[in-house]
Amino acid sequence: MPAEAELTSAEIKELFDLLLSKRETLESQLSESRDALKPVALDQTRQGRVSRMDAIQRQGVAASARKHTSTTLQKVASALKRFETQEFGNCRMCEELFGYGRLKAQLRSALCLSCQSSLDKQ
Ligand SMILES: [Zn+2]
Repeated sequence: MPAEAELTSAEIKELFDLLLSKRETLESQLSESRDALKPVALDQTRQGRVSRMDAIQRQGVAASARKHTSTTLQKVASALKRFETQEFGNCRMCEELFGYGRLKAQLRSALCLSCQSSLDKQ
């Protein structure tokens, strides 16, 4: 495989900004979903048993969506950290340069395609 070109500073800035806005979106999703996770209201006057079960079920969905969001947020945060420590753009396993295309498509990934696919096979 041909070696990828070093990123230009404009490309680095673009990817960094993408990650920052991604983080912002995820953080606001998390704070919005916080409301959905409040204990299911015990207000029996307004909610019958069925709607209470319904609410609990919805809460389960909200909780797993929230978990997914916070995992993604962690990945974005660690990608941002790699930017700060200048490790961004290199595969964490083989240290091969990612290249702009791969980076943009897989912003949160810390591995190059071949390492990722060999990892997936394990
Ligand atoms: Zn690699």
